[in-house]
Formats: sequence, structure tokens, C-alpha cells
Amino acid sequence: QRIGVPREIFPGEKRVATVPDVVEKLIKLGFSVAVETGAGDAADLSDDAYRAAGASVVADAAQLWATSDIVFKVRPPTPAEVAAMPEGQTLVGFVWPAQNPDLMQQLTAKKATVLAIDALPRTLSRAQKMDALTSQAGVAGYRAVIEAANAFGRFFNGQITAAGKVAPAKVFIAGAGVAGLAAIGTAASLGAIVRANDTRAEVADQVVSLGGEFVKVDFEEEGSGGGGYAKVMSEGFQQAQRAMYAKQAKEVDIIITTALIPGKPAPKLITADMVRSMKPGSVIVDMAAEQGGNCELTVPGQAVVTHGVTIVGYTDLVSRLSRQSSTLYSTNLFRLTEELCKTKDGVINVNMEDDAIRGLTVTKDGTITWPAPAPKVA
Ligand code: NAD
Repeated sequence: QRIGVPREIFPGEKRVATVPDVVEKLIKLGFSVAVETGAGDAADLSDDAYRAAGASVVADAAQLWATSDIVFKVRPPTPAEVAAMPEGQTLVGFVWPAQNPDLMQQLTAKKATVLAIDALPRTLSRAQKMDALTSQAGVAGYRAVIEAANAFGRFFNGQITAAGKVAPAKVFIAGAGVAGLAAIGTAASLGAIVRANDTRAEVADQVVSLGGEFVKVDFEEEGSGGGGYAKVMSEGFQQAQRAMYAKQAKEVDIIITTALIPGKPAPKLITADMVRSMKPGSVIVDMAAEQGGNCELTVPGQAVVTHGVTIVGYTDLVSRLSRQSSTLYSTNLFRLTEELCKTKDGVINVNMEDDAIRGLTVTKDGTITWPAPAPKVA
């Protein structure tokens, strides 16, 4: 079968779903690979690099869609892209079926089989190698620290130099999921003093193992909403949490916020008053900007300076490290392809008996198969 990789057309999207190294591996599995011209440009991957890896480069997007059995993408397809799909095509990429009911209808009308990488059952240990949400959140967490360091006027690490003693920067991370943990590890590796908080107490050990200190909220409440995700906390908890965050805001130089609750707007953790209380030159990176932001003063997509504090609300952190994020994403899709093609004969088999495959198959031959039943084994 032929795997096609179009150029991503979402504004500001710099990733590509398949990198040349993975093209080689897909060919070894028996597939042929076609890439739209310029698909890798924004990730510093040239058409020639794809050709050298054995892909054919197609000048025209419509032709690429029309001649591929399987399409690998990053962003959900636009209506124009769906229009270009031949009937019965298989599509692999981010789809977000809950947020995109119209898209789901359009895809079923095309009798498509759609494997939504965002619908992967993440708690299956076997699925970790395919977990693109985790790989991309890890890149975003790393990049958030780099953005913070870029906007911050001092070193992260403490130094004793002939020109004087420099104290290490203090970094506070709000939310220690995948992105938060990556930010903790990155900030600690740069030498900062790192503290973190999460409503799910179970992450405290992970924070410590990455070199951070877990700061508790002075209020007993279980923060897990199931599946490893957070829930909306009681008013009492939120009040106690605000008091702790207010204290941290006065003390630290950098705050990175990553707090999300599935299906809800991002919790507002950093108030305007807290921003005002920070030292001039401090930095906030709000990784929840796209979901409304964890800070009251965040402007999504922009870096603004308010009360002497730089508040970074970039919503394209993964695209700001596009070669790395593309490489990891592409590897996730390759691992999925291996699962789909155990016979290594260049033909996929969407096995609905397999818990991982079942979970991410959101339409099969034009029938909606989402949401999947919970996986049987962990
Ligand atoms: P996410 O991006 O949805 O949320 C980020 C973090 O924000 C979460 O840790 C959440 O608890 C926290 N948060 C929410 N409200 C908060 C508040 N008011 N104050 C402080 N923190 C708050 O989460 P994610 O990074 O996608 O990960 C979610 C979970 O999924 C994690 O437990 C992760 O370990 C788990 N996961 C498990 C597997 C696996 O089992 N193999 C794989 C990937 C992820």
C-alpha cells in the first residue's frame, strides 16, 4: 500500500507527520511512501532528504491524496482535505472526535477508516510507544523552559564567578502532567531551583525524581478524576491553592503553568494580583493559553509584558521545535504502523480485537466506532 504525507496547511503548523528516517523504515515494512513537495520544509527536512530515503515527491496535494491508500497527518484534515480523499482511504493523525463532530460526519461520508492518535488508550503500557500526546507534550514542556530562559534576564544556575556570586533562578511549575514533568526536568538540568504542584498527589514522587520539590496545598482533597486526569476541585481547595500560589509568586522568578482538566476550561491559577506581586523581570509561560490560560493576564499566541512581568502565551510551542516534535511524532506513527502490519508485507490490518488499535479507530469503513469501550487489560 502507498502511504501519503501531505504538507500541513494549518497556519503556523511546522511539523510533518513522517521524517525521512521513518520513510526508510516504512519501506522496509513493505510500503511505498509519497510526500508532498515542501512537506518537511518547516522542519528543515528537504525534498531531497525524502527522495534519498526512498520516498517519491509529489508536486500536487490533490494528486497525493488521490493516489494514497493511507494518509499520515498531524492536524485534523480541513474540509478541503476531506474533499480530496478518495473513498475508503485510511487516515492517521490527530482528529479530536469529541471536538469535531462535523469532521467525523464528513469522514464517514467518505467511508474512511480513521485512526485518531489522540484517542489511543494511554493507560495501556503496550501503547506508550505510540503515545503522541505524551511525545508532543514532552517537547512543549521542554520548549516552555527555553522560552522562559530566553525572556529571563539572568542565569538559571547559580554561579560563583570572579565578577561575583549569582543565585540560581527559582522556577515554579503549576501542573505536573507530561508537559509539567518535562519542564521540571529541563529547568532542573539548567540548574534552577524547581518547585511544582499538582492536584493529583500521586505525581509528587515523579516531581522529586526529576529534581523538583513538590509543594503541597494545605487542604486535603483527592484530585484524581480517573484515568490519570484531574477534576475540578472544591471551592475550599481552590482557596487554599490560591494562597499557596500567591506565596510562590512573590518568591520565584519564573512560573510555568500546564494545568488542564479534560473537557473543561483551564483552571485560573495565577491571578492579576499574583502577577503584580512578582519581581520585575519575572517570566510566566502559560502552556494552557490555548484552553483559556492558567493566568488571568495571558494573551493567547503572544508574549506580553504586564507589571514588568513577561507573560508568554504561545500556542505553538511544539512547532517551535518542529524537527524534534516531527521526529518523535513520526516514530509514534511508525510504531503504530508496525502494530497494523505484523506481516511486514506493506498492507495494514485494522484489528478491532486489539485493545490499542480498537481504542484509536474512530471510524471504520465509514462507520463511527468512537468512543471505544474501555480496554480490557492494563
Ligand atoms: P493534562 O495535560 O491533561 O494536564 C496537565 C496536569 O494539570 C495534570 O497533571 C493535572 O493533574 C494538572 N492539573 C489540573 N488542574 C490543576 C490545578 N488546579 N492545579 C494544579 N494542577 C492541575 O495531562 P497529561 O500531561 O496529558 O497527563 C495526564 C495523565 O495521564 C498523567 O497522570 C499521566 O501520567 C497520564 N498518562 C499515563 C500514561 C500511561 O499510563 N501509560 C501515558 C500518558 C499519560
